[in-house]
Formats: sequence, C-alpha cells, structure tokens
Amino acid sequence: MNDGLRIIVRTIGGPEALETERFDPASLVPGAGEVLVAHRAIGVNFIDTYQRSGLYPMSPPFTPGSEAAGEIVAVGAEVSGFAAGDRVAWFTGGPGGYASHRLVKADTLVPLADGISFETAAAAMLKAATAEMLIEQIAHTRPGQSVLVHAAAGGVGGIAVQWLKAIGARVIAHAGSPEKAAIARDLGADEALSCPLDQLAEAVRGLTGGAGVATVFDGVGAASFTASLDSLAKRGLMITYGNASGPVPPFSPLELTRRGSLFLTRPTLGNYVDTPESMRASAARLFEMIGSGKVTVPIGLSMPLEEAAEVHRRLESRSTTGSIVLLP
Ligand code: NDP
Repeated sequence: MNDGLRIIVRTIGGPEALETERFDPASLVPGAGEVLVAHRAIGVNFIDTYQRSGLYPMSPPFTPGSEAAGEIVAVGAEVSGFAAGDRVAWFTGGPGGYASHRLVKADTLVPLADGISFETAAAAMLKAATAEMLIEQIAHTRPGQSVLVHAAAGGVGGIAVQWLKAIGARVIAHAGSPEKAAIARDLGADEALSCPLDQLAEAVRGLTGGAGVATVFDGVGAASFTASLDSLAKRGLMITYGNASGPVPPFSPLELTRRGSLFLTRPTLGNYVDTPESMRASAARLFEMIGSGKVTVPIGLSMPLEEAAEVHRRLESRSTTGSIVLLP
C-alpha cells in the first residue's frame, strides 16, 4: 500500500525542488537499533532551505527535515526502552523528517510527556535546543545583562526572547516590521525595534546609555553582521548562528579589535548536542522551560506536508512568524 508520503529533493535548487513521492511504509523495516516512526507533525527550520538550495552541501536524492514527532510503529532488534505505540520526537541524527514515516535511530528519540502535543514538540525541539545552546552554553547570560536578539518574532528568535527574559536579561529585540516587533514585545522583549539595520546600532546605544549590549544573538547573517558588531559593548560577544539573509562574508579580525576587543563565535548545534547524553540533557532542559510555562512555542503556520514548497517560499520571503509545522 503506497499510503506513505515524503518529500524528495532530486536536484538542488529553489522551493520547486521539493517534490512529493508516494511510498509503501511497509518497505521501511527497522534494523538493529532502529525504530519506525509514523510522524504526526514535522518541524520546518531554516536549515531545510540551506540544504535544499545547496548552501549546506547535500548529496541528492534526499528528504529534508531536521525534527519531527509521532508514534512508534515497529521496533528493531537491540532496542530497549521503546515500544510500538510510544509517543516520541527527534531533532538530531540528520535530515529525513519531511515524510509520513521514517526509520530513526532509537538513541536519537525523546519520549514525549502526555502534556506535550506532537505539534508543540515538532515546533519546539530543534529551535529551543538552539536557544538553550546560545544562551546557556555559549553566552552564559546573567540577570540584568542587556542583549540584542535578531528576527525576534521568528522560530528560534521568539523562543530566545522568552528564555532570556525568564533568566532575567534585558532583551532588546529587532524584527523586520512593526507588526513583527509587536509580536516580540508580546513575547516579553523590553524593547522591540524594526528600524533599518543601518540605524540599529545607534538605537541600541540609545537604549543602553551608550554602552551597547553584552551579547548579540544573530541568525540573520550577512545583512545584519556589521550592525550587530556595532551594537556590542566593549568585550561583548557576537554570536552569528545562521544565514537567513545569506552567509557572512570573510572579514578581518581587526574589526573586533577596533570595536572594543569583541568575541566572535559561529556555532552549530551539532557541535554542542553531539552525543545521546547531551541530546537528552538538552531535551530535558527545553521541556523544563516549556513545561514550566516560561517558554511558549507559537506556531505561526501549519500546513499539509504536500505544501512544503509553499512553506519554504513563505519562510524565505520573511512572511512567517513563530514556528512552522507540516502535517503528514
Ligand atoms: P526564522 O523563523 O527565524 O526565520 C528567519 C527570519 O530571519 C525571518 O523571519 C526574518 O525575520 C529574518 N530575515 C532577515 N533577513 C532575511 C532574509 N533576507 N531572508 C529571510 N529571512 C530573513 O527561522 P528559524 O527559526 O528556522 O531559524 C532562525 C535562524 O537560526 C536561521 O538563521 C537558522 O539557520 C538558525 N539556526 C541555527 C542553528 C545552529 O545550530 N547554528 C540551529 C537552528 C537554527 P525578520 O523579518 O524579523 O528579520
């Protein structure tokens, strides 16, 4: 029975490269250490667009999608702790999420508590794990510190704003429109700006008594890089963690010196959540933040899996807010 559906990229390219394909889920037989998961909700992340477009090299054909939640259908040999019918989610182990069914390594699975819906898990895990990495493992943000968050109404940005407020930071948010800035303010940002990026540093200095912020969380990339450096306090930390507007071009380290001995890092989650143990620790921390109500996960767009190309168009044209979920 070909009642399975997945998205396949056969040729690197634009959103039209996301083709749908029917398949027989019975053809997916879990090997040792694997389980077969029937996805109920699939998270969409900007990294899916980088893989589709070739910015992050992939070997076609492949199925994009870096996180999903669903129910276990079958369990392979040497799997303990999981059984058919269990509610689970995953956000590590590589792409393959844009599918109704997927073979998943059991040591990448996270059990879902009853109170967490499939949609929330699929919308939250990779993005909240990224926020946890940025804030708690890299910036070590302290209460009272002023920070700047770009794309603050977006998936990672919207979660980061709430997480930073929960630990007592003063959050200056930037977003691409007044409407998005209002969303960031509703999420708890102390200040929410939507000025052109070439006016941002001056606005941030105006809000920090001229000092600048301790840390900039920048997933926008090329377009915001200089504005971000110019917004930092002496010895501040620049975290450039994404390329939504394109990759940051090469630059001279002397640019860090002349702005006050700045620190610069370009992290990827795969270097921080790189073992089953660190994955479980990250998942436990993000579920703690979500379960306590300190962090909510707004889902701005929910569409059928077949509409993946349209979803990528909207994400890349800056017309989405919050997380995006595909439903198989
Ligand atoms: P978002 O929901 O944040 O969408 C991207 C946002 O970037 C847009 O909504 C837009 O917000 C902003 N943006 C600014 N300029 C552009 C542009 N030219 N084209 C498109 N978007 C632009 O996406 P995600 O939450 O999925 O990801 C956010 C960032 O986090 C991405 O850069 C992603 O790569 C990165 N990331 C990095 C990880 C890591 O390990 N390093 C892990 C996970 C995510 P606005 O209009 O408000 O400016």
